Amino acid sequence: MLAHRTSLFKSSRTAAARAAAKAASDDGKEIIDLTAGEIWADLAPTIREGALEAIRQGENRYTDTVGVMELREALARKVSTETGQVWAANEIAVTTGAKQALFNAAMVLLNPGDKVIIPAPYWTTFPAQVRIAGGIPVHVDTRSNGYALRIEDIESALTAKTRAIVINTPNNPTGTVYDAEILRGIGQLAIQHDLWIIFDECYGDFIHTDGAHHPIVSVLPEVRSRTLIVNAFSKSLALTGWRIGYLAGPDYVISAVKALQSHTTSNPNVIAQHAALFHLQNTDGSYERQLRSQLFAARQVGFSVLSGLSRIPAPTAMGGFYFYLDLKNILAPEPWNLVVGDRDADTLVRELIAQAGVATVSGTAFGDPFALRLSYGVPPDKLESGLGRLVKFLNAWE
Ligand code: PLP
Repeated sequence: MLAHRTSLFKSSRTAAARAAAKAASDDGKEIIDLTAGEIWADLAPTIREGALEAIRQGENRYTDTVGVMELREALARKVSTETGQVWAANEIAVTTGAKQALFNAAMVLLNPGDKVIIPAPYWTTFPAQVRIAGGIPVHVDTRSNGYALRIEDIESALTAKTRAIVINTPNNPTGTVYDAEILRGIGQLAIQHDLWIIFDECYGDFIHTDGAHHPIVSVLPEVRSRTLIVNAFSKSLALTGWRIGYLAGPDYVISAVKALQSHTTSNPNVIAQHAALFHLQNTDGSYERQLRSQLFAARQVGFSVLSGLSRIPAPTAMGGFYFYLDLKNILAPEPWNLVVGDRDADTLVRELIAQAGVATVSGTAFGDPFALRLSYGVPPDKLESGLGRLVKFLNAWE
């Protein structure tokens, strides 16, 4: 008999989508996998060199639980530059990816029954972690508003038990980038209602439109004492497997995170920490620029193939590296009542794998059974032929 807690979460649906693609290709099918939450790219030379140097130096010990001091200092400088404010090393915890940063945040902030507002569609792990930490996720649906959050929708979801709001910009899966005005509004609400802001900016380096990424604390400095910034090198340096992320927030929160992490994972991998430090000290920004232009080019290719879709609106994909296709025209024709019929995106994902040989992530992973997420962080030839198959299949789907 397992603990009751295990009923609060299932294996990540995005991981399951990846596994379904792999299972089909292990069965001998030729599958183009567009499920990836990561970018197809080589290691940054600075990361390779930093890691090799750490190995040459014989780094093998535990480090400080929340990261070596030089890395925390370098990250404090990074956050200072990005936010236009001064941050110190004791306001930074280095974590095993952004996922651990978020989990730490949930564990040190939430009491049983606390509610956390999570705009939907949402990255699948946010609500799972809130539940594990004893909280209650409350979703604010952005689907009828082009995946953009409205202040009045947040307001109507607030109760006396609301303790935090999760803001993920650019958003996974929708690609929505929050502008300064909405961030200011969210910040003001957080002040009025005494909320924590968990600000996940893992995709902040990838903005493909005229807008910019705005850290909420630079838009409204008064929210700094109630904001936890979550970021990682996983997406920004195509380094998902190395598991280096960080949390920036008030020093007493970071102390609590340190105590928690000292009983869970201890420090993040020492070689990866030194690689990240070496990168921060030596990068000239060219690797980052190259990743950005790779994604921008892939996005253009994707748009041109997806323009062949006959019944589905073009995605916006303002930031990040996903196309999020709104399928309600084919899955829930008007009036769109958000009731799942006999077919939802899960059905479609299965048929796409079996009949078109292309793997995607169902919107159900993001609380939205009427959508698909496709990654364009894949090699260009795969992207073009995968999307080509998808367009042909969806146009013919009855
Ligand atoms: N936050 C968001 C919005 C993500 O999409 C992901 C990964 O997909 C993460 C956090 C986790 O990142 P990491 O691999 O650094 O744990």
